[in-house]
This record gives sequence, structure tokens and C-alpha cells, in this order.
Amino acid sequence: MDFAFSAEEESLRASVRSFIREHITDDVRRELADAHAGRGKGPALLAVQDAIFRRGWLAISWPKEYGGQGGSLVTQYIVEEEFIRACDMRVGGGGTGGPAVLACGTEEQKREFLPGCARLQISFCQGYSEPHCGTDLAGIRCRAIREGDEYVVNGQKIYTTNAQNATHIFLLARTDPESRRQAGLSVFLVPMDTPGITVRPLWTIQNEPQAPPHTTYGEARTNEVFFDNVKVPASCLLGQEGDGWNVTQRGLNLDRVGAWRYLMSVRRTEDVVNLLKSGDAAVGHLSHDPAVRDKVADLWTEAQMCRLMTMRSLSIAARAGSFSYEGSGEKVAGPEHGVRATEAIGQILGPHAELLNGSPGAIDSGVFAHNLLGAFQSTVNHGSVQVMRDQIARKGLGMPRPAGVAGTRAARV
Ligand SMILES: Cc1cc2nc3c(=O)[nH]c(=O)nc-3n(C[C@H](O)[C@H](O)[C@H](O)COP(=O)(O)OP(=O)(O)OC[C@H]3O[C@@H](n4cnc5c(N)ncnc54)[C@H](O)[C@@H]3O)c2cc1C
Repeated sequence: MDFAFSAEEESLRASVRSFIREHITDDVRRELADAHAGRGKGPALLAVQDAIFRRGWLAISWPKEYGGQGGSLVTQYIVEEEFIRACDMRVGGGGTGGPAVLACGTEEQKREFLPGCARLQISFCQGYSEPHCGTDLAGIRCRAIREGDEYVVNGQKIYTTNAQNATHIFLLARTDPESRRQAGLSVFLVPMDTPGITVRPLWTIQNEPQAPPHTTYGEARTNEVFFDNVKVPASCLLGQEGDGWNVTQRGLNLDRVGAWRYLMSVRRTEDVVNLLKSGDAAVGHLSHDPAVRDKVADLWTEAQMCRLMTMRSLSIAARAGSFSYEGSGEKVAGPEHGVRATEAIGQILGPHAELLNGSPGAIDSGVFAHNLLGAFQSTVNHGSVQVMRDQIARKGLGMPRPAGVAGTRAARV
């Protein structure tokens, strides 16, 4: 097994790094944080995204006719890894929406959505969870009933992260009112400015006190989204009517892997290693402490495993295979590593690392405490780690469903 990148791939990484050093300024970082908070994209951010596009690095692995460069998944991984590590900018062509349109969309839909996604002008929020069903998506009640050339949507979604910024929602709804469980569901690509859609914020623990802008873990806001007689053209249907379950599973699986997923979790380990090596007077002596060295060595080893798991999924996908329990494995390993890393940082740096923004004595505006709070979110969103373990047991190890659990329970594959 050879885990080395080729000379061309290393050269791509070097070019991306050099671009980042030159272009990702403090203004860009500030505007990225503003954009994430829903305050729109500033001029520095727009200019840098345009420059990234002109270099062909946005959605680099997508076919050229849809705005990509026809590159390999490994090139996408490299570009994603560098931009996320540097500034939390997702540029690779992953995420909700685009990859699913590429996999399941009509030619017309690919032409309508993908070039805009590739230029970061179109973005999707994920409309799966409802107040009574998160894990068990087969319980979806939001309805989309066909009337002539359109569907009329009524219902509610919850925890719809980024709905305040997204241009579209990737909506899972019940098209057959008589159907039960996963039958009769369909996916729609719905513009967020369609009349009848209301977005209401759900603030998380990161919002009060407000996490500092350089917190990299945990959303400050997610949302409830209400649909009141929302009329959607039939052309917004992704895949066949009634096939939404399969479309969703493909989308979820694609969304669970990638550099962004593993980096979200392992960057905290990098933080603590960098801090200990920084020569900072307050913590420098800790790098000689055998217990601290053991701890960071353990974390680093785990972090490398997370990275290798991501590369295994990419390798399966690159060979045109499809992964299932492998993605679930990543979704357990990464987030749980992130929780352990943020907890370890608290133990190493002491009680002050547990103080939130605004508390007297908080370190670096409470960033370590906020990352600790945020780390737990990733063990729940995109399918909880408990449910992922069930998937690994069943699909990876061939074990039967637990007795007493309905056939489609634990549905987030
Ligand atoms: C910060 C954040 C952002 C989110 N963003 C989005 C988003 O953008 N779009 C979206 O659609 N959803 C989003 N979600 C929702 C998320 O996907 C659900 O919260 C998650 O799937 C769990 O569903 P639930 O909250 O209904 O909990 P439940 O399904 O009620 O589960 C409660 C607990 O029971 C456990 N459990 C349930 N079933 C099983 C089982 N069969 N075996 C073992 N354990 C089980 C779960 O692991 C969990 O611990 C987000 C959630 C969070 C926290």
C-alpha cells in the first residue's frame, strides 16, 4: 500500500499553500466569519473566491462542463484540506447538494445548479430533520403534493443549519400521502426565496456568550424552516418521484466523508501541539511533561487514523465503488476524536481553558472552551455516532438488526 501523493499532487498542494499565504488576509478571514454569520460576502472574500475559481480549484474534481476541472478526488481532497486548515473555507466540491445533483440530477439540473455551486454562488442547506424525526427519517411528515406542473409543500423542518445563508434547500418530503416509512418520499431542490418559506433561528450554546470568530467548532445558529403552501415547479424534483430515500442516502454518504469532515475533528489536536511548541511562556514548560507528551502523542496517532479512514473512502470512491459503513466509521472516529482532543486541551491547560468568552481569565477569548462545547455537536449532526455504530455492526460486520428495532430504524445510513 502506498500512501504517498504523486509529484503532481504535491506540486498542487504547494501551489495552493503559496496562494493561501498571498491571498488569505485578515480581511478575508473577517469577511468569512461575517458571511458565516449571515452578514453577506464582503469584497475581499468575493475577490479571493473569484481568484480561486480562475485557478480551477473550486470543485476541481467535477467534470469541466459543469464548472470543474475533471480532476481526481485526491486533488479535491488536497485543495479542501489546505483551505479548510488555513481558513475554514470549503472549496472542494463536497457538501450537501452539488455531489448529489452530480450523482442523481438530470442533464438540465446539472447545468442549472453545478456551475453555480462550483463558483460558490449556489449553496444548499439540508432539509431532512423534523421536530419528531432526526435519526428515523422514514417518519418524515413534510408533504409535497403534485398539482399540475408543480408541487405544493407544507410542513416543518428543524436544525436546518445555514438556512439563513443558503440559496436553496435540499428538501426531503413525502409525495405520496398514503405511503408509510421510506416509501413515497422525494427530494426537491427548492430556492429559499420561494414565497411561503419562513426561516426562524435556533440559537445554540455557542451564541451566548458569543464564541470568538476563530472558534472552529460548533454552529452558533441553526434554524427551523416552515413551508406554508410553497409552490415548487416539478422540475425541482431530484431523481424519480418516490425515490427520495435512495437519493438522500447517496447524498448523506457523500457528505460524511472528505477532508473537511476529518479536519473539523483533528484540528484541535494540531492546536494543542502548536501551542505547546510555540514557546509561549505560560505553557512552554508543559511540552517537557511526560504525561502531556503521552497525551498529545495518543491524540496525534488517532488523528492520523482519522485521516487514513478518509483516504480509504476516497480511494473506494475513486475506483467507482460506493462506501457505506466506511463513511459511518469516519463519522464515529472523527467526532469522538474531536471531543477527546478538546477535553485533553482543557486538562493540559487547566481550568482557565474552560472559561467562555467574556469570563475574566479566559484564554484567547475562550476559544478552547467554545471548541469543547462545539465538539459535541458533530457527534450528533449528520447522523449520531450511536446510529453510525449500528450501521458498522450491520453493514460492516454483518450482524443482525437489534431485536425489537423496526426495520427502518436507524435510517441515516
Ligand atoms: C448542530 C446541529 C446541526 C444540524 N444540522 C442539520 C441540518 O442541517 N439538516 C438536518 O436535516 N438536520 C440537522 N441536524 C439534525 C441531526 O441530524 C439530528 O439531530 C440527528 O440526526 C439526531 O436526531 P434527533 O435530534 O431527532 O435525535 P433522536 O433521533 O431522537 O435520537 C436521540 C438519541 O437516541 C439515539 N438513537 C436514536 N435511534 C437510535 C438507534 N436506532 N440506535 C442507537 N441509538 C439511537 C441517538 O443516537 C441520540 O443519541 C443537526 C443537528 C445538530 C445538533
